[in-house]
Amino acid sequence: MSETSITVKNGQLVTPDHPTIPFIKGDGIGPEIWQAAQEVFDAAVHSAYAGNRQINWLPLLAGETAYKKTGQWLPDETLSALDHYLVGIKGPLTTPIGQGHRSINVTLRQKLDLYACFRPVTYYPGTPSPVLHPERVNIDVFRENTEDIYAGIEADVDTAEATDLKALLGHYDQLAKVRFPDTAAFGIKPVSQEGSTRLICAAIEYALNHDRHTLTLVHKGNIMKKTEGSFKKWGYDFAETKYGQQVFTMAEYDRLRDAQGKAAADSALEKAKAEQKLIINDVITDNFFQQTLLHPENFEVVATMNLNGDYISDALAAQVGGIGIAPGGNLNYQTGHALFEATHGTAPQFAGQNKMNPTSLILSGAMMFDYLGWSEVATLIRNAIKAAIASQHVTADFATDNQATVLSTSAFGAYVANLI
Ligand code: NAD
Repeated sequence: MSETSITVKNGQLVTPDHPTIPFIKGDGIGPEIWQAAQEVFDAAVHSAYAGNRQINWLPLLAGETAYKKTGQWLPDETLSALDHYLVGIKGPLTTPIGQGHRSINVTLRQKLDLYACFRPVTYYPGTPSPVLHPERVNIDVFRENTEDIYAGIEADVDTAEATDLKALLGHYDQLAKVRFPDTAAFGIKPVSQEGSTRLICAAIEYALNHDRHTLTLVHKGNIMKKTEGSFKKWGYDFAETKYGQQVFTMAEYDRLRDAQGKAAADSALEKAKAEQKLIINDVITDNFFQQTLLHPENFEVVATMNLNGDYISDALAAQVGGIGIAPGGNLNYQTGHALFEATHGTAPQFAGQNKMNPTSLILSGAMMFDYLGWSEVATLIRNAIKAAIASQHVTADFATDNQATVLSTSAFGAYVANLI
């Protein structure tokens, strides 16, 4: 390991003063938004540390750009550099279309076992929003990133796999549940105790360390009892076993209510709240969507499975301005591996026009600096974005009225960097 490598010692990330951080510019609008974002990152690091700390940016290839240069969508060197340097950041990547091609993003998450997709959703005043009170949304979403139907185990209609699966279902007296077996395709949904609890552990740790008081397990366990229902059960069991007096779960509430009545359970819940314990509850996914539109202020940290988390993070992001501003990170808190990324795609129809919003990537960078322990840098970046949006110096997508000063991607990056 060179002295520029980020390492993990005794379970803690150790960031040298001059860390090497691999980055992938990405495809489509990726190079434009990356350039704007890097200018902001370098300005913030310089302002915070006056040259005593600096990033060594290491460019890596992936996606269409890599395919054109190397014939590989995800070159081995890219994967091994991300593995070696632990922490990286990326722009959007084109998903190759055609038989046998998986999304490069999904492949990266699986190869590096980045099991937690962390998407904080918060409102920056001045951002256009379709809801009346976007400022009530401040929800940290933890989405399981390696299991669920994203495992990609599917059998197409009329294939040997489908025939074998049907035989297996017949063997277990389950085939009658398939309404049209002759024309059915199948998908398999693995959800494990180990995979669920490591994700829920990440969400609990985050909540306890960031002064959050409610954690909600979002699931469709009323229908998918063995997978999503177990996610909820494992989550409650794990929280009670590992975190004991630091948490109060609604499973405890239910047990108390059944044994001693509702008044006793209510009073235990109130006591736990007064003692600032983390309250862990759960909600069925469809109700969650309704509740987060009606009363988003009731939710703080969310832990959920892969597909729910995909829908939820985009739906919540839409309330606070959409994918142009929503940041994200994919993490493995055990190995330290982390890959931060803009949550939107390559927007190929706008590539080269220098007008898309780089804020999602910039705020993903702020998350990365928090993760590195350089929180001064993260704060400088967020404050500058806040000031630019509040004064309506924005890219076209955020210009709601003719008072706004519409900036190009590069001009927005320069404007934000100047505010730092
Ligand atoms: P997209 O997110 O690229 O674009 C959808 C629309 O969102 C765009 O037309 C644009 O109006 C808007 N938009 C996106 N980014 C924006 C920005 N920074 N500023 C302002 N507006 C923005 O989704 P798509 O068109 O469905 O996908 C295009 C490609 O991107 C596909 O190949 C897809 O697989 C890939 N993709 C990659 C990622 C990723 O790398 N994480 C995520 C999603 C999609």
